[in-house]
Amino acid sequence: MKIHNTEILPGANEVIKIPVGRIPTGNQILIRAHVYRSLIDGPTALILAGVHGDEVNGVEIVRQAIASDMFRTIQRGTIIAIPVLNVYGFINFSREVPDGKDVNRSFPGSLRGSLASRVARIISKKIIPEVDFGVDFHTGGRSIYNFPQIRYTAGDEVARELAMAFKAPQILAKKTISKSLRKYAQDKGKRILVFEGGENLRLDDYSIANALNGLRRLLIHQDMLPGTLPPDQPSWHYLKSSWLRAPQAGIFQWTKGSGQMVAKGEPIGSISDPYGLECTPLRADETGHIIGHSNMPVVTQGDALFHIAYQPA
Ligand SMILES: [Zn+2]
Repeated sequence: MKIHNTEILPGANEVIKIPVGRIPTGNQILIRAHVYRSLIDGPTALILAGVHGDEVNGVEIVRQAIASDMFRTIQRGTIIAIPVLNVYGFINFSREVPDGKDVNRSFPGSLRGSLASRVARIISKKIIPEVDFGVDFHTGGRSIYNFPQIRYTAGDEVARELAMAFKAPQILAKKTISKSLRKYAQDKGKRILVFEGGENLRLDDYSIANALNGLRRLLIHQDMLPGTLPPDQPSWHYLKSSWLRAPQAGIFQWTKGSGQMVAKGEPIGSISDPYGLECTPLRADETGHIIGHSNMPVVTQGDALFHIAYQPA
């Protein structure tokens, strides 16, 4: 196996540093890929985080997986672990790269493209060709708390089986998004699961622990790691989800949050004016689970407030 001009032999463990570019001070930005190869042939798994620079739980999940030496026990195939893809966003506490573009909407990317497009290209050209499946670890977007959940491409049986093996508390079938990593990989016949957990710029032990258990379950299921499966936990599998948005601006308070079951029509929060005159209740628009909610105290009309997963009628 060769990644960025480095040959990785069976049984080897290498850290490969792939240059992306330089910041204005001349310092070089490098993406580090930790590669663990077994002596025995098998699938190659990509364990990726930090596509969005402020989504720190993903980074911490991969960091803990590396630090715990989980991957060193590999008994079949290869693991490529990249804890921080978007180094620019990570050091700037930002989802995007400095020009405001989203790496996960820039696939496959181009050498002559924007910075986001150049970062995306490293994964699409240097990593994805080597990979059979993977997990891309994310965190809720700005002030959104996501309950730990694993997402797979709707209608793909192989991806569904991988998601079932990972078994986060919530398992979600999702359509692919244009120019995303999951879509690009899917088109190449590779399955990338997306994990979501916690809120941007806040470490969430619950999401991190769930993700590490899921990752271990998935890799044991693939016979890539030794050991027995971590204890089973209840999980729910949903085929649909949608956002309940703010019908008006105001002070937002939730009374039901991520991880809680809700019934259609049930009050789950409210929006008030700051003068103590009006308070509008918010009601669940589907029966299912809240899998993400906003922690923004002040919202504008149309802001995403509750992400509710449910079964199609
Ligand atoms: Zn993300």
